[in-house]
Amino acid sequence: MTTKQSKPHKCEYCDSTKIIPMVNGSPVDPALESLVAQDKIYVRGSFQIVKGSVIWICADCHEGVQDEAYLYDESNSELMQAYEDAIKEAFENLEYLNESEIRKLEGRAFLRSLSQNYLSYGLFELEKSEESFWIKPSTGATHEYVTNSIIPMNYFGDMDDYLGEEGTKEFEVRINKEACVAVATRIAPGKIQVKRK
Ligand SMILES: [Zn+2]
Repeated sequence: MTTKQSKPHKCEYCDSTKIIPMVNGSPVDPALESLVAQDKIYVRGSFQIVKGSVIWICADCHEGVQDEAYLYDESNSELMQAYEDAIKEAFENLEYLNESEIRKLEGRAFLRSLSQNYLSYGLFELEKSEESFWIKPSTGATHEYVTNSIIPMNYFGDMDDYLGEEGTKEFEVRINKEACVAVATRIAPGKIQVKRK
């Protein structure tokens, strides 16, 4: 049973209504990995759930819900029930994905999060060098992400899987709270261009 006070209705940062429970655990667990790839649950490894912890997160922009009414509080039985129900529901509807399906979903999720940051410029390109990623927005600024930093190099493989043989895909993205469609296209080996449709 949920009420309007027990689960956040929408994300205050991007207006998405895809609010999912955040749990602690290892994303290498096959069940959790599938649920995370499908945006059913968000996992933070060393997350300690104590009074005041963020327990709801936006599946689109990955911002946590900071509103006090929705922070972990054992004395709020409706909130606790909604949180437990959401986790239970995710596991009850668990659909295991194989490795290549997970890679495609992760590629899409990665492009979606980058697009939220860079598409307001209109267009950006991702370029893979041997050791790093380059992100080049149309403003001319260049951002380099080195292997083994926050963005693992293998995301480029995930994006290639997501784009598939045809080398182009449309995907949903929210830019300044507005739902938009973006198009990612492999324009050369190791080079992907992302545009707002
Ligand atoms: Zn959001």
